[in-house]
Amino acid sequence: MTTKQKPSLLIIGAGISGLAAARTLREHISPDKLRVDIIEKSRGFGGRMSCRRTKIGNSFLFFDHGAQFFTVRTKEFQTLLTPLIKSGLVREWLPKLVTLSTSTKRFKREWFEKHYICCGGMNSLAKSLARELEGQNVNIKTNTHAKSIMRSKAFSERNQWYVQIADQEEKCGYEWVISSIPAKQNLQLFQQPQLKPHLNLEGFDHSPCFSLMLSLKSKFSLPFDAAVVKESPIGWISRCSSRSDNDSVDGFVIHSTNTWAEENIEKSNEEIAEILLENLTKLLITINSSYRDLNQNIDHKDIHRWAHAKTKTKAGKSFLINDVENLGFCGDWCLGDRIEDAFISGSKLGAHLAKILA
Ligand SMILES: Cc1cc2nc3c(=O)[nH]c(=O)nc-3n(C[C@H](O)[C@H](O)[C@H](O)COP(=O)(O)OP(=O)(O)OC[C@H]3O[C@@H](n4cnc5c(N)ncnc54)[C@H](O)[C@@H]3O)c2cc1C
Repeated sequence: MTTKQKPSLLIIGAGISGLAAARTLREHISPDKLRVDIIEKSRGFGGRMSCRRTKIGNSFLFFDHGAQFFTVRTKEFQTLLTPLIKSGLVREWLPKLVTLSTSTKRFKREWFEKHYICCGGMNSLAKSLARELEGQNVNIKTNTHAKSIMRSKAFSERNQWYVQIADQEEKCGYEWVISSIPAKQNLQLFQQPQLKPHLNLEGFDHSPCFSLMLSLKSKFSLPFDAAVVKESPIGWISRCSSRSDNDSVDGFVIHSTNTWAEENIEKSNEEIAEILLENLTKLLITINSSYRDLNQNIDHKDIHRWAHAKTKTKAGKSFLINDVENLGFCGDWCLGDRIEDAFISGSKLGAHLAKILA
């Protein structure tokens, strides 16, 4: 990145909220009036809307090991999705849905609103937004982990924000910074005096979740595609084949409950996998005793630990802003715990800043 005199803005995080903020800014301000850069610590886009691709034989199995689906309750999110539904990137998901527990009989569950997924993995939505932004001169750098952010006149006369990435300092200064990462993670990035007294980010928090990804050796007949689970360390089960056109390979995504993850955060991945698998088998045996051999049909298992999965305490506003320090904060935790909340938070912050910066 090179130093330029036009105002510039850095977005930390290329999850749905950070991308939405950039998108709204670009809708209102052209590249010759404002430079917009995004840095993302991971290899890809989408944050908690992640997908892991595993090769099995000649096929790929897609594990949506973070968010499983989204619902649409606002006009703004519907406007984003309508063309994507038309193009086939997003589609309604209609799984055979049940409630499972070891103490009661399985029962069919109904959804009362449409549930959507992305074809080719939940991160396809973020990938599509990122492509659109790159076409509008937004620079997005992946594998770029912001370690700290500081004010400095080191590289120009202006008192701008500079970001420390690993052990090198980014030489491009920014007038504004938007952070779109989970609330508490900001406390490691910014110094307290920059946040206080305007922003009290300690107050907003997320609880963890473990995802167990299981790929199966051979097809596995089950009377459901997805299950809400009660009275178990498991909270949710979903079958990969119900989300893909290719059912020649199959697997499960199992989510622990947030409470169980919190209580068992010290356990190793091996221990977590073993406990969740044992509980999955117990649940399936209530349907048919032949499922006790599930273990022998597992080809591969993997655990992902989500440290900041679900909002515990939300801010109750669309975004937070410190317009003395030129800092904005967005993310699901501002409004709730869903993808749509993250999108609305980022979009509203982008629109607010567009008014200030245009
Ligand atoms: C297991 C699980 C299941 C879920 N299920 C659902 C569901 O079914 N439906 C639903 O609507 N929602 C669900 N959610 C919630 C949903 O995924 C989130 O609400 C939404 O994705 C949050 O988006 P975000 O942009 O606010 O944050 P994130 O997606 O967390 O994006 C933040 C980004 O910032 C990056 N980042 C963090 N720190 C740094 C740094 N220092 N430097 C650079 N980059 C950084 C991260 O890598 C990430 O890409 C689920 C979440 C989890 C974990």
